[in-house]
Amino acid sequence: MRMLLALAVSFFALSSFVYSATVAQKFQTSAGDVTITPLNHASTRIEAGGKTIYLDPAKPVKFAGSPKADLILITDIHGDHMDPASIADLSKAGMEILAPPAVVATVTSAKPIANGESTTWQGWTIEAIPAYNLKRGPAEGKLYHDKGRGNGYVLTYGGVRFYFSGDTEGIPEMRALKNIDVAFVCMNLPYTMPPEEAADAVKAFHPKIVIPYHYRGSDLAVFKKGLEGTGIEVRLLEWYPQ
Ligand code: ZN
Repeated sequence: MRMLLALAVSFFALSSFVYSATVAQKFQTSAGDVTITPLNHASTRIEAGGKTIYLDPAKPVKFAGSPKADLILITDIHGDHMDPASIADLSKAGMEILAPPAVVATVTSAKPIANGESTTWQGWTIEAIPAYNLKRGPAEGKLYHDKGRGNGYVLTYGGVRFYFSGDTEGIPEMRALKNIDVAFVCMNLPYTMPPEEAADAVKAFHPKIVIPYHYRGSDLAVFKKGLEGTGIEVRLLEWYPQ
């Protein structure tokens, strides 16, 4: 029993070395705190000024009983980003949805926002950044994510700039981002990019903090090592709770 307990304790110590124990992340801005909670894979909750935003709410998260959404942001058409059932669970009167035009074809209540466009909502500035594959696809000459279809987002609140990459490789538009405080960057094969490529792209735009998300199956130690000595804080959070 004592042996088992010791094993359990050292396992816990090991996992808390890898992953931050508290999942909700609080960031101070000039307009008040922004709280960002990883839910699963790409699904994220963002709270500020008494409003609740969800990015890519999707299964397997169960949203029944969650705070309803004031705004939903969707990045792309695939089921891990666009999930009408989860949207329905989060819906309330007055809720808004912003999504790429390709998503609006299915989620018809969404307002379209295309690559390069920006808008404002409740103190936030929302910029749609391209998200696409440069070379990876299901077959020769095909890409998992075609340029122009999906959005990443730069979300600014109280002067603090948050970037959510969407599903993308280390594209020039990511590398050219400026003044990002907190970057959420995808990495997973075969669909997006491996951790070493993600680290290289992050180095180019140099956010203050980077948080890997949408990383199923990736070795985050490789990502972290790729950014050693850059001064960029790598924050590892658990996006795949059991
Ligand atoms: Zn995805």
